[in-house]
Amino acid sequence: MKYLDEFSDPVLARRLLDQIHAATTRPWAMMEVCGGQTHSIIRHGIDQLLPDGIEMIHGPGCPVCVTPLEMIDRALAIAATPGVIFCSFGDMLRVPGSGRDLFTVKSAGADVRVVYSPLDALTIARDNPDREVVFFGIGFETTAPANAMTVYQARRLGVRNFSLLVSHVLVPPAIAAIMEAPNCRVQAFLAAGHVCSVMGTSLYPALAERYRVPIVVTGFEPLDILEGIRQTVVQLESGTHEVTNAYPRAVPPEGNVPARLMLEDVFEVTDRTWRGIGMIPASGWRLSARYRSFDAEERFAVGEIHTDESPLCRAGEVLQGHIKPHECSAFGKECTPRNPLGATMVSSEGACAAYYAYRRLDLVEVGA
Ligand code: SF4
Repeated sequence: MKYLDEFSDPVLARRLLDQIHAATTRPWAMMEVCGGQTHSIIRHGIDQLLPDGIEMIHGPGCPVCVTPLEMIDRALAIAATPGVIFCSFGDMLRVPGSGRDLFTVKSAGADVRVVYSPLDALTIARDNPDREVVFFGIGFETTAPANAMTVYQARRLGVRNFSLLVSHVLVPPAIAAIMEAPNCRVQAFLAAGHVCSVMGTSLYPALAERYRVPIVVTGFEPLDILEGIRQTVVQLESGTHEVTNAYPRAVPPEGNVPARLMLEDVFEVTDRTWRGIGMIPASGWRLSARYRSFDAEERFAVGEIHTDESPLCRAGEVLQGHIKPHECSAFGKECTPRNPLGATMVSSEGACAAYYAYRRLDLVEVGA
């Protein structure tokens, strides 16, 4: 398949692996920030083909996983409000809140709809002027531009019965928080290519310099990831800490300028809580003053939210790279994709889901 097959060519993959093996003289621990990269690494067994000393630490870049429990519970309360049509991408429906999920609320009679674009939610709002339509806007710098554009369009078109439940988070503050954690083992980062395709690379040199870590912008296909690892190892072995771009076909240094301007207009930076991790200062977006009337949190007074996370779930440790998913005692037992205790087992980018899908039988065989 054009634009996919050439990035999983086994001969080229072997060549890159040989270069990585030849360049590696010591153990190194590097974090792939994005859950999509985690899935690619586990699915293709890339971590098992690397030199023994190289550890891939799975990062917190899964948008569904880090959406705070308090926000999930708020979404559930708004969705259950009479007269509301609650719209979301499908992967949020099975994410467990404190006691239920959006599927449960839907099966109890709430009008919860899966959409494929936030603009679909805006269309639903225009078609149902007597209902309140809410879109659940989660995710990183990758999904935020479409949500920003939708709010911009709602304002421009005068659609007053549309609002956004905003839970956007930003990658660079998370990298800083990971590096400042007392038990941090991360020595380098594979930065998420799609985030950089929007935001560019200008935020990363300051991080690389402050924490003296190489940061390599990396794509998602097997050869993209191997090239990202190769560039990272070369830097680690030579003691440099620069930002390099191993995904130039998708990431110009300046990113997507129109998308960035739209984000600057619609959003402003705010503190955000990350599920399983806690509050990271200035790590998210909320609607700016001009668009605040489209904020679902302000429009729906759903009262005090009391969150209650499963005591068994160690997703926070998984998200911060402290443990691998199968080291959680509930993995594959009390917690499965059909009966998830944490968001990392539900999400298509969750590390627990990746290990369950691609590594579970291997782990059983070795008695893990
Ligand atoms: S396996 Fe399940 S319970 Fe354990 S950390 Fe992952 S999501 Fe949480």
